[in-house]
Amino acid sequence: MSPSRVLVLNSGSSSVKYQLLDMRDGSRLATGLVERIGEQTSRLKHTCAAGGGTREQNGPIADHEAALKAVADELERDGLGLDSPELAAIGHRVVHGGMFFTEPTVIDDAVLTEIERLIPVAPLHNPANLTGIRTARALRPDLPQVAVFDTAFHTTMPEAAARYAIDPKVADRYRIRRYGFHGTSHAYVSRETARLLGKAPEEVNVIVLHLGNGASASAVRGGRCVDTSMGLTPLEGLVMGTRSGDLDPAVIFHLARVGGMSMDEIDTLLNKGSGLFGLCGDNDMREIRRRIDEGDEQAKLAFDIYIHRLKKYIGAYCAVLGRVDAVAFTAGVGENAAPVREAAVAGLEGLGLAVDPEANAVRADGPRLISPTGARVAVAVVPTDEELEIAEQTYALVGSKPGSNHGGADE
Ligand code: AMP
Repeated sequence: MSPSRVLVLNSGSSSVKYQLLDMRDGSRLATGLVERIGEQTSRLKHTCAAGGGTREQNGPIADHEAALKAVADELERDGLGLDSPELAAIGHRVVHGGMFFTEPTVIDDAVLTEIERLIPVAPLHNPANLTGIRTARALRPDLPQVAVFDTAFHTTMPEAAARYAIDPKVADRYRIRRYGFHGTSHAYVSRETARLLGKAPEEVNVIVLHLGNGASASAVRGGRCVDTSMGLTPLEGLVMGTRSGDLDPAVIFHLARVGGMSMDEIDTLLNKGSGLFGLCGDNDMREIRRRIDEGDEQAKLAFDIYIHRLKKYIGAYCAVLGRVDAVAFTAGVGENAAPVREAAVAGLEGLGLAVDPEANAVRADGPRLISPTGARVAVAVVPTDEELEIAEQTYALVGSKPGSNHGGADE
């Protein structure tokens, strides 16, 4: 039997999330997280599906290399080690692939160089992704490693949607354009939405609303992205947990000239101190709803601003698509917060959008319709699964090849 497992690695600046999947049925063999890498209080939490147990390690983990070695040790303890002949590949989430990477790509030195060249447009994310890749390659130099890019799904956007209205010479020199993010989620959810409707992806136009701590919307025509709300960076678009989303670019000049703030201070304000958190001091939608129920005006205003922006994007993407077959809510807020879904489509009956209050209130794990029977546009809750999408894209690329020095001989 050929190797059937894929390890998915998502390396952040101070964390590594991982999942080991069996691609024969998409099941999780192990999942885990290393956080606060480089601090005294690092923590590794590892869960093995077969044993059903969760183990935790607390104590300093110096860097990504030490983190990945600790993960490899944990997997080894469960008989799922990185040297297993059943491991087909490692799939890495890479945030920024620019316009160069339109597809998942097997990593070699040239690919690493190109991801490195993109650091100026993704200074927070690509360096961490690169560290994860380099460490994993050092641990298993013989194993195929694949980069799956957050931006790739959006590379189909037409120039009219992807270009900003600035001098193209300036834009091209600094590679300024709309790239979009959360691409693996938008790809997965738009496909799953088509499946829910019993149609092929090519047959349907879908608006995907990925509402997590980060949030983005996309317009997907026949399986291809034609517009998305995040831009050069993940700052643009919807109101998010701590990011402002859209604002007049002149706010930045104003804060610098009149407020005397440095570029770094403004960057931190807009990325980490804005959005729901900046508006009301909380970025968790559960807490915001609780405060609203207690009559908190500040939380109510934050919620209203969040919903107003969301509605504007739904309307805009109805216009971009012309015909909309479905609106899909996904990620932490989209999958769990019925009041957000209800408020987002309230008053949009003219666009064919409505939710059935009973269906909307149901809590369930799988994809489901929440629009009234016979509605012109389906409104759906479609749980995202970025790790499965990364694993599937990785496996599709390398699955049939032997995954190790063991020459593919296994079991
Ligand atoms: P994500 O980034 O997709 O993991 O989403 C995280 C966010 O989802 C949290 O910050 C919460 O705002 C939101 N969230 C998670 N669970 C719930 C829930 N049961 N109800 C409302 N919001 C939720």
